[in-house]
Amino acid sequence: MTDYVKRKELLLGVASKINDCTRCPLNETRTNAVPGEGSIETPIMFVGEAPGADEDSSGRPFVGKAGQLFTKILESVKLDRKAVYITNVVKCRPPKNRVPSREEQNACSGYLLSQIAIIKPKVIVTLGATALSYFINDEKMKMTEVRGRLFDWTGGIKIFVMFHPSYLLRYASREPGSPKSLTWEDIQKIRKIYDQLNEGKEISI
Ligand code: SF4
Repeated sequence: MTDYVKRKELLLGVASKINDCTRCPLNETRTNAVPGEGSIETPIMFVGEAPGADEDSSGRPFVGKAGQLFTKILESVKLDRKAVYITNVVKCRPPKNRVPSREEQNACSGYLLSQIAIIKPKVIVTLGATALSYFINDEKMKMTEVRGRLFDWTGGIKIFVMFHPSYLLRYASREPGSPKSLTWEDIQKIRKIYDQLNEGKEISI
């Protein structure tokens, strides 16, 4: 069995455990768990907060309004969502889209850590404050100050911080300094990082 096939099977095994999971109360209100999807050979993984209503009904990550915007953001730099891996900190939808509690995040954490261990990304892009605080629990970090920047995480993995696409939906402006314009700068950095990693180069942004 090749390494690729073995890793693919391991990832499917994690997804299967997520689909059957009853570790936290979110299992009682979900329609479908949302393990994640994308390439297992990608150097870049995107991690959001939690599934919303459309994701809960389809079982797929980032397919609602915010997800469609996220897909367009990727496509704006010619990145196919199939070329990266996309998931969330928690795999089941919190009722009324509330922020998942720390207990729920902790209960679900083993799945995300397993996905990271199998995919072995070089960079994890956090989408929004919940994903950022999962990886770097520092209350002093403000999204507006740390977005677009890289931080060291465990195992040599770097964290790149971006706004959550649902935040962008609330601000129509594309003026310089607006969340959309800053995200345009950030996704261009992601594209650069993606190319550098695929070419075996050091990250430089
Ligand atoms: S959110 Fe995570 S821990 Fe909670 S039931 Fe879903 S898969 Fe299990």
